[in-house]
Amino acid sequence: MLPALFLLLTRASQADTPRVAPSPPVSNAARALHEQLLTLDTHLDTPANFSIVGWKIQDNHDRNRDGSQVDLPRLVQGGLDGGFWAIYTPQGPRTPAGDRAARDAAIARALSIREAVAANPRAFELALAADDAAAIAARHKRVVFMSIENGYPLEADLSLLSTFYKLGVRLAGLVHFTNNDLADSSTDPKGPEWRGLSEKGRAFVAEANRLGIVLDGSHASDQVLDQLIALSKTPVLLSHSGVKAVFDHPRNVDDARLRALAASGGVIQINFMSDYLIATPENSERKAALSALWQSARKPEFTLAEREALIAHKHEIDRRWPVPRATFEDAFAHLLHAVRVAGIDHVGIGADFDGGGGVVGFEDARDYPKITARLLAEGFSREDIQKVWSGNVLRVVRAAEAFAGH
Ligand SMILES: [Zn+2]
Repeated sequence: MLPALFLLLTRASQADTPRVAPSPPVSNAARALHEQLLTLDTHLDTPANFSIVGWKIQDNHDRNRDGSQVDLPRLVQGGLDGGFWAIYTPQGPRTPAGDRAARDAAIARALSIREAVAANPRAFELALAADDAAAIAARHKRVVFMSIENGYPLEADLSLLSTFYKLGVRLAGLVHFTNNDLADSSTDPKGPEWRGLSEKGRAFVAEANRLGIVLDGSHASDQVLDQLIALSKTPVLLSHSGVKAVFDHPRNVDDARLRALAASGGVIQINFMSDYLIATPENSERKAALSALWQSARKPEFTLAEREALIAHKHEIDRRWPVPRATFEDAFAHLLHAVRVAGIDHVGIGADFDGGGGVVGFEDARDYPKITARLLAEGFSREDIQKVWSGNVLRVVRAAEAFAGH
């Protein structure tokens, strides 16, 4: 629970104050098209909620009460076929004890994803290959690919990558908010430590290629992305990222790198997290209040009632110290720029729901049809919209499978 809470308090921390027209209407035609397409989001942080006692993926939840954005009823309402469900591990101490704790937490999180699928066999199915996605959607189930966000749990023992592959992982990012033994982060206040990948990080890349796991460059530094593109034998994915030309943030990618990513066959999946989309002014009182809330909530396990109380407290902080919050159109501007620079074959969706994502007019999984509606309004063809929703990412997954000989 702690990682989910941490993300919630530090990353999804803006008040509902729209700056411009929030989001597009969804016509019947757009909704019908949306339902026909295979739709995948490459960064669902929802597994972080699996450890809340009393929270279940098959139940209806209210974002305003428990903070969650994805569950089965909302996936159905939002016409999302599924995507990549993250095994997220917050970066902790880079010590033998820290490494072991991270390893165990990540294995447990992977098992919790499998457990959620096993408990709902008519609603969810694990996807282990690119071709599984369409087959699972045709059976009217939600597609569950597994991904790793932060390679920290593997930094002491890279052989675990094959363990995670066997558990179902098909996409893996090396690093998160701060540097680790594998790679430099885009957001470590101390700056780069390895000038990109460490030796161990390079071995991670080779092993991921050998197994058929796609490499994820989101959260990694620009140098790491350059090295991933150069070293990886298969195209790189940015599972949830934005573009620097629209908002200059270390988590976003500049145009030269967008072109290099596209030239190597890679794909950027556009994220819907306000902090990376528009400038957010610092507010020290708000920061202190959130930090105090976070401290008060430090404990290993949460019940749903405790989670709801926490969210209510957070809403008070939002009302007292509101900050500007990005809109759907702000996020869409990142998407359109990425399409203009990288091309329609190299852009997709990774909204970061349950990990800090969600903007005004695009708040939870029920809002996915707005993306289809907005792409239609922009004049994109059905074929192009299908590429954005899954064609591009599945091409990258297939390339990784082909290299590994699957
Ligand atoms: Zn992330």
